[in-house]
Amino acid sequence: MSKSNLLNEQTIDLAEYNKEPIHTPGTIQPHGVLLVLQGPQFKIQQVSSNTFDLLGLQPEELLKKSLKDLLVDLEQIKIIKQYLSRDFESINPLKLAIKNEGKTVNFDGIIHRSGKAIILELEPVLSKDKNNFLSFYHLVRPVIVLMQKAQTLHDLCQVIAMEIRQLTGFDRVMIYRFSHNGSGTVIAEAKNKRIAPFMGLHFPDLDIPSQAKRLFSQSFLRLIPDAQAQPVPLIPTLNPTTKQPLDMSFCTLRSVSPCHISYLENMGVRAAMSISLIYQQRLWGLIACHHQSPKHVSYEIRTVCEFLGQAMALELANKEEHENLEYKLKLRSIQASLIDTMTQSDNFVDSLVADSSCLLDLVGAQGVALYLDERLICAGKTPKEADIYDLIPWVHTQIDNHIFYTDSLSKLYPPATPFQSVASGLLALSIAPNRQTSILWFRPEGLQTVNWGGDPTTQVEVEASGNLRLSPRKSFDLWQETVRQTALPWLSCEIEAALELRSSIVGIVLQKADELARVNLELAQSNQELDAFAYIASHDLKEPLRGIHNYSSLLIEDYAQLLDQEGVSKLQTLARLTQRMENLIESLLHFSRLGRVELFMQPIDLNEALKNALDVLRINHTSEALEIRIPRPLPVVLCDPTQINELFTNLISNAIKYNNKAQKWVEIGYLDADSAQLTDRLTKTSAHHPIFYVRDNGIGILEKHLGTIFQIFKRLHASSKYGGGTGAGLTIVRKIVERHHGKIWVESIADVGSTFYFTLKDEEENDAR
Ligand code: ADP
Repeated sequence: MSKSNLLNEQTIDLAEYNKEPIHTPGTIQPHGVLLVLQGPQFKIQQVSSNTFDLLGLQPEELLKKSLKDLLVDLEQIKIIKQYLSRDFESINPLKLAIKNEGKTVNFDGIIHRSGKAIILELEPVLSKDKNNFLSFYHLVRPVIVLMQKAQTLHDLCQVIAMEIRQLTGFDRVMIYRFSHNGSGTVIAEAKNKRIAPFMGLHFPDLDIPSQAKRLFSQSFLRLIPDAQAQPVPLIPTLNPTTKQPLDMSFCTLRSVSPCHISYLENMGVRAAMSISLIYQQRLWGLIACHHQSPKHVSYEIRTVCEFLGQAMALELANKEEHENLEYKLKLRSIQASLIDTMTQSDNFVDSLVADSSCLLDLVGAQGVALYLDERLICAGKTPKEADIYDLIPWVHTQIDNHIFYTDSLSKLYPPATPFQSVASGLLALSIAPNRQTSILWFRPEGLQTVNWGGDPTTQVEVEASGNLRLSPRKSFDLWQETVRQTALPWLSCEIEAALELRSSIVGIVLQKADELARVNLELAQSNQELDAFAYIASHDLKEPLRGIHNYSSLLIEDYAQLLDQEGVSKLQTLARLTQRMENLIESLLHFSRLGRVELFMQPIDLNEALKNALDVLRINHTSEALEIRIPRPLPVVLCDPTQINELFTNLISNAIKYNNKAQKWVEIGYLDADSAQLTDRLTKTSAHHPIFYVRDNGIGILEKHLGTIFQIFKRLHASSKYGGGTGAGLTIVRKIVERHHGKIWVESIADVGSTFYFTLKDEEENDAR
């Protein structure tokens, strides 16, 4: 079994270990005493069994007393009482003078609440501490100045390590940073010359079990003056009120877990102190201090260290910002140029693909795949398309808050093993979850050497019983491991750049959708206005025009004998022109009405509609030799019957009109989407709808006119030729087709004939797209 497998399988049992109640050990370290107080009288409920050594009273005696029986100055009781309903933290440390066999002994008292109980921890003030005590401000200020001067995160960590060592005198002070997988790395160190350096070493996740990490997050400083000291039990063991072991999560005196003691022992450490570095509510790291012999640190100095730890945590944001500054600036400028091209382009995908090197550099990847509407567009070094298609459904289950990333894909997704050389690192960004649109960046495998503080796999031992036991490493000497199946980790600035790209894409797409909606609205409004204008204008023009027409007819009838031939001819032209103008206005009025009337959509058998149109046309064209061809019955479609009738009438009457052949024919039919006759253009126009056509063997239309014949009043011939007309017929046909959300176009060969194609879609279907 490989090492990594061994560790993986043990995770379950280690999770059990992580539930071990290390916060309720029932014992304390012997350098102080612990009193559990109850109620406003501060009655002593539980005590540590070492009270005689430090307070001169046996535990049994103390359990009959209350706190006021111990204190020299009863004013202090009043002060504590004032904080009963508040947070005790602000009065710590209490400087308590306690009676001990007629003498007064000074203690640092640390008070806090644990459930209903009040816990008071007392540590004797060493005379040495008292004499050497300098003001808090005096100690802290120079360190803060140095911290501010530090340029980089590394400088900041180094300053803190050195200053904390200076303040405390520990043999070794390290800044230990946690990675996202829970392991830690020593990123700064100050130490005495005699001991080996730990700088740069990695420590496995299990070195600090999750239970302990949680305690580090809760209380910021932990001191172990002597890991070998005998732990002192509480009397009674269970809390009399709760009948439960006392929760000592926040106790500074809480005794050390046996596993941690062995760990320190194996490392040659006797005294230790750790200060938590909490950044963005997460345990970012620790200031870890080690000493080879027992060592006490006064409460004042501890407070200074804790304060510096908190100040450092605040500075982290600042310094992390400066980390990789040049690289971050480069990412920013790539991002800006990508956004720029995206904003200017109509299609963001095209612009992303157009400059794929920009897209790769944005996160420092070697390959990228854009997954859009079940289609893949790849650039750079990526796995095969088929592999990416297989990978995508899994990636979509992993994405959380729009993003997923890993630097060892094949460990999480074993099918990636064959292509680990190009894709050990994966950063996936979801753009539109509903349409499963995403960007996948890939990073190749890169062999890496990790320097561990001792062999990390020797931590877990299998006991004879088969149970697993955490067994701290005996050796902390450099232990090198070559890591495969792993890419360079994604930096937080690269992850941020990806997320920002997503926001920009979403912003641009939304902005474009807004623009489109606005333009559509404006278009609809202006169309309405145009229709209204055409209606009013044509309606109002009709009246005076009719007058002119009537008067010119009257003049011809009543005064023709007074005029010469030329005058009569001019009046006749006037009458003809006004008649023509009236026809034009009538067409315009009809056209504008078409846009205003509501459609009555219903299933219409087009064979019926066609028959009606042909009946009317046959009456008008009885004399002509005309063949009507209907190759197969037409389907039933949802449409407005009146308008569809007009559409057929117009197209068929044109087919008859613009035909000078002796044997005229008109064919009315439709093509299916899979018809062999479909050209590329036709296929694109309608994948699912029949394409209707009206074909003739007429005069045809020259190619140069194909684009203009749908314009209103556009005729290609003199007004009297081919039976005349206003030139509005095809405009009306187009309007009808468009109101049915369809398309119309023409194919024609001069002297051979023309074919008008059109589609019809119902509105609901259109809305659903
Ligand atoms: P009108 O028939 O009143 O002139 P249309 O809008 O129906 O107006 O037609 C516009 C022009 O398109 C016609 O003048 C004609 O030149 C041309 N056209 C229309 N249909 C055909 C056809 N089937 N064959 C040849 N030309 C046609």
